Amino acid sequence: MHSTTASPTPTHCPYCALQCGMGLAQDPGRDGGLAVVEREFPVNRGALCGKGRTATEVLSSRVRLTEPLIRTHATGRLEPATWEAALDRIAEGLSRTRAEHGPDAVGVFGGGGLTNEKAYGLGKFARVVLGTSQIDYNGRFCMSSAAAAHQRAFGLDRGLPFPLEDIPRTGCVILVGSNLAETMPPALRYLTELRENGGTLIVVDPRRTRTAAQADLHLAPRPGTDLALALGLLHLVVAQGRTDEAYIRERTSGWEEARAGAMAHWPELVERITGVSVPELREAVRLFCAPDDAMVLTARGPEQQAKGTDTVGAWINLVLATGRAGRPHSGYGCLTGQGNGQGGREHGQKADQLPGYRKLSDPAARAHVAEVWGVAPESLPGPGRSAYELLDALGGDVKSLLLMGSNPVVSAPRAAHIERRLRSLDFLAVADVVLSETAELADVVLPVTQWAEETGTTTNLEGRVLLRRQAITPPAGVRTDLFVLHELAARLGVEKGFPTDPEEVFEELRRASAGGPADYSGITYRRLAEEEGVFWPCPAEPGHGDGEDAALDAAPDDPSAELPGAEAESASASASASTGVHPGTPRLFLDRFATEDGRARFVPVTHRAAAEEPDAEFPVLLTTGRVVAQYQSGAQTRRVAELNAAAPGPFVELHPQLAARIGVADGEDVTVVSRRGTAVAPAKVTRSIRPDTVFMPFHWAGEGRANTLTHPALDPVSRMPEFKVCAVRLERTGPP
Ligand code: SF4
Repeated sequence: MHSTTASPTPTHCPYCALQCGMGLAQDPGRDGGLAVVEREFPVNRGALCGKGRTATEVLSSRVRLTEPLIRTHATGRLEPATWEAALDRIAEGLSRTRAEHGPDAVGVFGGGGLTNEKAYGLGKFARVVLGTSQIDYNGRFCMSSAAAAHQRAFGLDRGLPFPLEDIPRTGCVILVGSNLAETMPPALRYLTELRENGGTLIVVDPRRTRTAAQADLHLAPRPGTDLALALGLLHLVVAQGRTDEAYIRERTSGWEEARAGAMAHWPELVERITGVSVPELREAVRLFCAPDDAMVLTARGPEQQAKGTDTVGAWINLVLATGRAGRPHSGYGCLTGQGNGQGGREHGQKADQLPGYRKLSDPAARAHVAEVWGVAPESLPGPGRSAYELLDALGGDVKSLLLMGSNPVVSAPRAAHIERRLRSLDFLAVADVVLSETAELADVVLPVTQWAEETGTTTNLEGRVLLRRQAITPPAGVRTDLFVLHELAARLGVEKGFPTDPEEVFEELRRASAGGPADYSGITYRRLAEEEGVFWPCPAEPGHGDGEDAALDAAPDDPSAELPGAEAESASASASASTGVHPGTPRLFLDRFATEDGRARFVPVTHRAAAEEPDAEFPVLLTTGRVVAQYQSGAQTRRVAELNAAAPGPFVELHPQLAARIGVADGEDVTVVSRRGTAVAPAKVTRSIRPDTVFMPFHWAGEGRANTLTHPALDPVSRMPEFKVCAVRLERTGPP
């Protein structure tokens, strides 16, 4: 039986990277006893989408897991078990693999929805307790190409280097591959206000989405050609003399090589590659260059490609050539997708990262984090495989897997193959709130607490660190992920260093991040409770603050050394000077970028074909994405009645010309075949998509699983799979 708090608890939505503020009020009349109430929070100003409004339903869902499950030899089925037995079985399974095949035969897979504390704990658990390099997470499938491009150009990756509130204050936004109206509806108001203020909106998307319908100009390139489009725009900018030469000279490096690449992409060539006409290209340049301030915002469209890093780099080059980055209300930003997609990549569950967004390959970073962890730097394993490569190695080099907060059976590319790899493991343990499609394959399933049942921090798409507060007592049979790590560590011989109290974990995270790119050392739970989030980097100010900084004074790096390029606003800086507490850094790069010389780097890029282009056998392009009522693999949202009613299953969106060619009517089942497999779903015939392209949402398992079809070709830098483009053929299945 749940017990509840007496007054609304201020907290944040458990789903997307907007991390909308909400209140949770006691409501005995509701199943589960909690009601979502409006709360003023600067990011969403009280607005919530349907997912946020119904988020409490999963807490009391009938299909919620409330006791551990162990697969028994006798029945081959998952059967209820005690926590002791389940944890013993996991410890035994992982240690047997380690003893027989070495530490790298044990894999760990995390999630972009895990809190900072859990992501931190999971990375530490993998490297200190298991000694494995084989850890990555599903955030690799989210924004990793933008993160890599950000690092390459600016020396630092924070999705948005400015707050969302800057969007209505700029002159023009090019929104590339984002359908905000469906993925994070409360954020749409920033674009509405932009236009009310006289700014213009250009949306780049192969589909005329609800977001694209609001644009002043909608460019609908062929999937996989966004890079060529950006180069074509840059070509015109140069040809029309619209570059900002003083800015290029004073704040950037590498322009000549990037310029040469763009000049090879003349408009007529770009029109042939992308399908966007030369007049449309010219109009986009006119709108983008007219105001002094402008932004490019990217999301999964350009990022989830086997050339995602270069594609984002091409858009950044456009921003730099026109002198827009590192100035107020201007620049480049990535709209991160998952709830803690930003924090999830900063604290050590990524294959190549240590906490504080430090590089695992950097000796100084290893020494710093090893000291905080109380281990020898040389004991830390090196970088491991990226998410898809790790999943693809299951049953091969990687024999056992511990998985938290992810459902790759639905969300991984080439999903049928990944499902087979998961089935071939010697041992699989999954911690989740429901029996997801991946948990169904496990040897042991642990029922863990959800957002409103535990306290923890997340970092939203702006780099704003937030406190999610516990509002309700969890059901008796569930435990937190931190408890799971604590208990498994103890069973595997590490008695200390894995506290179950999230604030205690956060205190250690502060020390581990001190002096790193994502410096959280000046952020405390107390500050987060009093302020509406704090933007990193936020170094501790020694001798000031709330007294908790004493521990940080012992850290080997100087925590007061502010990251180059991360300039706080002057007003906030004054506040800092008067209080001794660092105000956080809402806007990055205002004076210098975080590169060694302080200059942003142009990176020369060139267009190349997708990993799989249409041919006679597979003549149509497939692209995938989301719908407003579902979230990611749907593990939670498919369990919410209102959301399920609004979006009950997958569909295949296709143009009437294509529908006529294969003889399928609206609502009839259509079979989509790629070289990886087959999916079947009802046709949704609409003129809002290009005639050469079909779209499928990816939230469902079973025969309508879109990721059965997707291509696992990887970006060479970010290791992002090519979710957004592959070749398929369509066949008429017949009436449903
Ligand atoms: Fe939650 Fe995102 Fe919807 Fe906001 S937009 S309510 S954070 S799912």
